Amino acid sequence: MVRDKVLFSFKAFVETLERADKVVLITDHTVESLYGKEFIASLGRGDLPLFSFAPGEASKVRKTRDALEDFLVDSGADRKTVLIALGGGVVTDLVGFVASTYMRGIAYVSVPTTLMAMADAAIGGKTAINHPLVKNLLGAIYPPEAVYIDKIFLNSLSAKEKMGGWLEMIKISLVLKESLFTKIEKGEASLETILKEAILLKKKVVREDPYDKGVRLLLNFGHTWAHALEALYKFTISHGEALQVGLLAESYHSYRSGIFPLEALERVIALIERFNEPFLSLENIDPHLLYKEMERDKKGINSIPRVIMLEKIGRGIYNRPLSFDDVKETLAWLQSGLLQNSAQ
Ligand code: NAD
Repeated sequence: MVRDKVLFSFKAFVETLERADKVVLITDHTVESLYGKEFIASLGRGDLPLFSFAPGEASKVRKTRDALEDFLVDSGADRKTVLIALGGGVVTDLVGFVASTYMRGIAYVSVPTTLMAMADAAIGGKTAINHPLVKNLLGAIYPPEAVYIDKIFLNSLSAKEKMGGWLEMIKISLVLKESLFTKIEKGEASLETILKEAILLKKKVVREDPYDKGVRLLLNFGHTWAHALEALYKFTISHGEALQVGLLAESYHSYRSGIFPLEALERVIALIERFNEPFLSLENIDPHLLYKEMERDKKGINSIPRVIMLEKIGRGIYNRPLSFDDVKETLAWLQSGLLQNSAQ
């Protein structure tokens, strides 16, 4: 079977489950209350073992992983069992990681219910949980059998939650394809069109570099900052909120280092400003503490943080070292509210 298929048809999705003796559904409480019963009924397999946990990043931890593993043992899950991850990126990351080690690896399928998970988290097989100090420290590259995407789930998602998905698609466009950025900028193409294009681009990169040694690193754009902020805020902020800052900060690094033109930076700022969500408060952030988090980031080399930079919209370059001064200056730029004004 070809793994990691992206399916838009429910029938095709159900067919991928046919060889499974047993399926176990894993979700969070919010998604369970919104879709659990209906989703289980639609599978036509009668009652399924269901494991559900508290929503949010605070659950992407060893405790939830342990509880899920205990649940799988109790419910008799074996090598032929297929896990279904129904939820946002927290659910798909966690389930994928558990699937990668349970009995040395069992199959799972993902049904992403947030735009973030449809556009990014569920695609490409990166799975992980957080260490209390470091985001996504414990993980594996372990693709699902299939990812089933149904945009109906987006109807119950708040604008704030959708923002994270849009930002990941903007990220993909910034490092890989200017025409996608322009499409998002113009606001004329449907969400479905943008989503499909972003998924195809990501899949192409993952096919070329599944283990994140080369071109796939580009998809980390914005994430050195985002992951450090999430750790600094002790995982109480959303990935989308952190990424909003991360995309601006790493675009600004590119501009400061003289390789990314001011007009391009202004286009990035203008597009990100359109998300009319309160910007994460950076007022009390100490650059030393922020840099310390970055030193722990797994993308760093010899404790020197690394970032992706932009040469132009649509072309990223990878693995540039980031100094404390870079971070201090960029933080000062963000803190001075240049976001509201201009990049001058
Ligand atoms: P999430 O799973 O926490 O979902 C966000 C919130 O939306 C949760 O409260 C959830 O209960 C709720 N929710 C989910 N679906 C809903 C729906 N249809 N309607 C209403 N509410 C719904 O987080 P997320 O934003 O989906 O994903 C963020 C996570 O994904 C982070 O942990 C991030 O690190 C990870 N991620 C992973 C990758 C990867 O390549 N593996 C890529 C990007 C992000």
